[in-house]
Amino acid sequence: MADTDENYILDAWEKRICPTCGAIIADERAYGSGRIKDGRFCSLACYGKYHEAAIAKRANEALTKARRKVN
Ligand SMILES: [Zn+2]
Repeated sequence: MADTDENYILDAWEKRICPTCGAIIADERAYGSGRIKDGRFCSLACYGKYHEAAIAKRANEALTKARRKVN
């Protein structure tokens, strides 16, 4: 599955920048689940912000699909 969000996360991981705010991340200050695909963030706030947006986007897509089925 081609997922540009995931590519962005991987790119940010390699460059050691926060995917949300673009700050440089020191290893001892990284926040995340530990899985590369979930990303590495400079703070818990940035982690929450990014995943909140991803969850909202997925929820919107699911809602749109559900509406199409109904109509
Ligand atoms: Zn950040």
